[in-house]
Amino acid sequence: MSNTSIRFACNGCGACCKSRLIPLTLNETRQWLARGHDVAIVLEAFNEATWTSDPQQFAHSARRASEVGSGGAVIQVIAVFTANALDRCPNLGADDRCGIYDARPLVCRIYPMEINPFIRLQPEDKGCPPETWQTGEVMFTDRIMDPTLARQVEQSRQADRDDARAKINICEYMGLTTVAWKNNAMAIYQPDRRALIAAIDACDAGAHDPAGKAWSVRVDQPDLRQQLLASDIGLSHDSSADYIFHKL
Ligand code: SF4
Ligand code: SF4
Repeated sequence: MSNTSIRFACNGCGACCKSRLIPLTLNETRQWLARGHDVAIVLEAFNEATWTSDPQQFAHSARRASEVGSGGAVIQVIAVFTANALDRCPNLGADDRCGIYDARPLVCRIYPMEINPFIRLQPEDKGCPPETWQTGEVMFTDRIMDPTLARQVEQSRQADRDDARAKINICEYMGLTTVAWKNNAMAIYQPDRRALIAAIDACDAGAHDPAGKAWSVRVDQPDLRQQLLASDIGLSHDSSADYIFHKL
């Protein structure tokens, strides 16, 4: 086996269904809400001028983002709609089995593989017990050979691109327009379930403002604030309780 090969056999422990936010496509979000479960929205912004890593990674992130106005600048914002499983997934049974196995979200089908092509699979970053990496199918930490898995990963990436603008429209409709800066923090909103359903329905019917809303960026770190101000990006001046500001 090459040094990127690894073995893996899921033992059904259910660890990947606990203590997490589970990214959903927009369609999966509708289904999740219809089942009566909550969805959290994670917002992060970036721009090309302050991007310091690989330009290809910028291109990848930009395809998942939408351009919005902030101050006198245009920034990229990614909205990740997530199933709230910060305690445990509401679909996880007492026996640690998935109660919607045939209808589970794409990311649940893909785990523990990485969706981001720039992140290599690292067993130590995953919740799977050590013994699951000792037996089972051979796979690779830097590529996906299984055709079903490869198709699901591509489906997930494509949904991220296809849904990007619609998710931003929904956030704007709900007034969720304060965003954290990528790699600095995450802004995590936990909207009322019925309000989110109403916002999605309204935006599906074309209710969003085509001119867009003004976005502001919450950054607490003085040097980064200065850097963003120099780019004429609109900064947030309050530490609102509307969202959780999770520093990275
Ligand atoms: S939907 Fe199923 S597989 Fe996905 S996190 Fe919930 S219980 Fe786990
Ligand atoms: S944490 Fe890993 S081993 Fe456990 S159920 Fe999830 S994928 Fe399987």
